Amino acid sequence: MSQTKQNYFIQANKFIVGGVNSPVRAWKSVGGEPLFISKAKGSKIYDIHKKKYIDYVLSWGPMILGHAHPEVISSICKTAKKGTSFGAPTEAETQMAQLICSAIPSVELLRMTSSGTEAAMTAIRLARGFTGRDWIAKFDGCYHGHADSLLIQAGSGIATLGIAGSPGIPADLARLTLSIPYNDLESLQTTIKNYGSRLAAIIVEPVAGNMGVVAPQDSFLKKLRELTAEEGIVLIFDEVITGFRFNFGGYQNLINIEPDLTCLGKIIGGGLPMGAIGGKRQIMEKLSPSGDIYQAGTLSGNPLAMSAGLATLHLLKSKTNSFPALGNITEHLCREMENLFSDKGIAVCINRFHSMFTIFFHEGPIYDLTTAQKSDTALFARFFHGMLKNGVWLAPSQFESLFVSFAHTDDDISFTLEACTAALKNL
Ligand SMILES: *Cc1c(COP(=O)(O)O)cnc(C)c1O
Repeated sequence: MSQTKQNYFIQANKFIVGGVNSPVRAWKSVGGEPLFISKAKGSKIYDIHKKKYIDYVLSWGPMILGHAHPEVISSICKTAKKGTSFGAPTEAETQMAQLICSAIPSVELLRMTSSGTEAAMTAIRLARGFTGRDWIAKFDGCYHGHADSLLIQAGSGIATLGIAGSPGIPADLARLTLSIPYNDLESLQTTIKNYGSRLAAIIVEPVAGNMGVVAPQDSFLKKLRELTAEEGIVLIFDEVITGFRFNFGGYQNLINIEPDLTCLGKIIGGGLPMGAIGGKRQIMEKLSPSGDIYQAGTLSGNPLAMSAGLATLHLLKSKTNSFPALGNITEHLCREMENLFSDKGIAVCINRFHSMFTIFFHEGPIYDLTTAQKSDTALFARFFHGMLKNGVWLAPSQFESLFVSFAHTDDDISFTLEACTAALKNL
């Protein structure tokens, strides 16, 4: 757990708030000090002491091709030599936008940003500007980046009135955000009945990843689409995690539901900072400069991000037939892990959706934030450290999704299962 030789984390803490540039990297919920990384390649990530791990975090989602894919890296290098930022239009941006619009039918027009947070923030502003309404609704346990209106504490009960999830968010703003339990049709209906005409938007992770993996139940999203359409509420699918993860397109393609707006990020940036918002033309064209709802970014559509994103999306397009195999290898891993846990008599509920999964330390079923929070996080923390010791890099929190990439091999899976066996011995 402790850093040997030189204490990198102590050094980092002297100059960086909490020693990290994004809170969950600090390992607060599992204890110990975060390891520093020196490099990563394919399915492997290496710490600064040259120890190798099979990586199931994958930079929290973007690296679906594995780290440092040769074609992505060469594309970035080629682009870099021609300059890294112009603040003027490039052809690559059009190519990227065209590729995304062709892959996701509901996306007729697109705007690039530098992060998923900006995409979700813009979606909310756009929905408010378009509808002339101020209220929005989200679901408990869904994360849409850290913009004020979206960082609202997940509360229990029916349509909890927004309570700021962080100091610094004005209560007057927070009260305009309602939070509803995920997968709860009754709460959804009640909320729309009571607040429908005031709601600009409802935003949802169509497969939730940020309370751990929680899939939508049968008619949840279909009903959500129907009810929002009836009330003129802008439906926003936050596909920052799910976009291009299960297929070449959005999760929406698979279920045949068209949201009004879609947020993208992670995979589309191929490991460089990028997000995007897209959707129905009549809404999107309200953004400046074609409309008067303001949104901008010095590095938006950045050439390096475009080159990494384009290379990644082209590779994924060529792999359209390999997506099912990615789901299968993940299913195999999860099933074998389930067996190991059950042999050991430890109750877990592994929620898997295609190549995303979470091992909840609770017997389950887990279908919303309340049930997710029943997990034994202390036991999870011990498991995390056990896996780490045995060469497997998991997300340092119970409430995160793990990912399998196209670079993960059968040998990686076998190695992971052996590590799991070893970790369980000492759990
Ligand atoms: C990661 C994530 C975001 C935020 O994206 P950033 O690039 O970290 O700002 C938004 N929505 C979802 C669903 C995410 O998983």
